[in-house]
Amino acid sequence: MKYIVVCGDGMADYPLEDKGNKTVLELSDIPNIDLIAKEGAMGELKTVPNGFEAGSDVANLSILGYDPKKYYTGRGPLEAYSIGVELVEGDIAFRCNIITEENGIIKDYSSGHITTPESTELIKKVSESFDIGKFYPGVSYRHLFVYNGDNSFSCTPPHDVVGQKVSDNLIKGKNADILNKMMLDSKKILMAHPVNKKRISEGKNPGNMIWLWGQGKKVPMEPFSQKFGMKGGVISAVDLIKGIGYGAKMKVINVPGATGFIDTNYEGKADYAIKALEEIDFIYIHVEAPDEAGHSGNLEMKIKAIEDLDKRVVGRILNKVQSKGFDYNISIVADHPTPIKLRTHVSDPVPFAVYSEKIKKDKTSCYTEKEGKKGRFGLVNGSDFIELLKKQ
Ligand SMILES: [Zn+2]
Repeated sequence: MKYIVVCGDGMADYPLEDKGNKTVLELSDIPNIDLIAKEGAMGELKTVPNGFEAGSDVANLSILGYDPKKYYTGRGPLEAYSIGVELVEGDIAFRCNIITEENGIIKDYSSGHITTPESTELIKKVSESFDIGKFYPGVSYRHLFVYNGDNSFSCTPPHDVVGQKVSDNLIKGKNADILNKMMLDSKKILMAHPVNKKRISEGKNPGNMIWLWGQGKKVPMEPFSQKFGMKGGVISAVDLIKGIGYGAKMKVINVPGATGFIDTNYEGKADYAIKALEEIDFIYIHVEAPDEAGHSGNLEMKIKAIEDLDKRVVGRILNKVQSKGFDYNISIVADHPTPIKLRTHVSDPVPFAVYSEKIKKDKTSCYTEKEGKKGRFGLVNGSDFIELLKKQ
């Protein structure tokens, strides 16, 4: 059996009063995803355990079978896995965003989705300017900072505080001053950088400040193949998701042109997934675009991201998997809702739909939040998801 799990990051949403109380999924035209629900069965997945923040890290760990209560200390260590940084005793890995600050306000958590070549230059400059830890460049606005010291920090994700004052959202805790000073001092260094001068002249948001958050220590993960008795792989543009894959010793497949945004190489993700299934039995395809649209609060963009996911990933996979003659099990899930009216993640359960040739169908007819609640699987714990798939 070949298992295909497609995750639309942040795809689930809340009803929109000005759209007849429909959710984004209900407003989207997604015939391929709906077919999985109609010909298969549905349920709801609780991907964020009680007491945890609704982060993509927690939620995706959960879906891949690693209970966050045991395996999660922060997103930093997962991102360290993804770029091959070995953490040692006492290391704390932070996610380091390149953000846009303006007049003391956090203006943009992503610096206008700055390109990787641009942000790599900026991180290099920051790295040369401070010596209290180590910086490692990642993708777009997402980077890594490793600091050796005690972990008593409390940090704020910048996407949760867009429009708020920098000074109200700095790191709290013992020894936080040294890190806060570095964040604040980074502005002067980055503002003067040619990359930002050029971005400003082009009307783009400059990447003019670093922002540390998501810190944690390394937790060893049991390999996926031992845990589930099959070889697994991961396709994602996002370091964090790749990091979970590396941590779980899964095959991490890099797709050219995968950006983590609405311009990603959707077809490439589908094609690489099908190709990978010639060697492995489980593939997790993560698509970030709906989440980014949710954070922007942009309804049209979120609909487009979900419809692209439907046609250009799921539809293409369904065509190809059938022509390959694989015995397959395909499922669709979101990691958490990113409601466009809130522009941030929430921890509500998400709908999932599963199809396999032998699956016992239920009465659900399309992939929406409401139908998920009617599904025969009921409410399932995120980290039990793969075991559930194996029984279908
Ligand atoms: Zn997410």
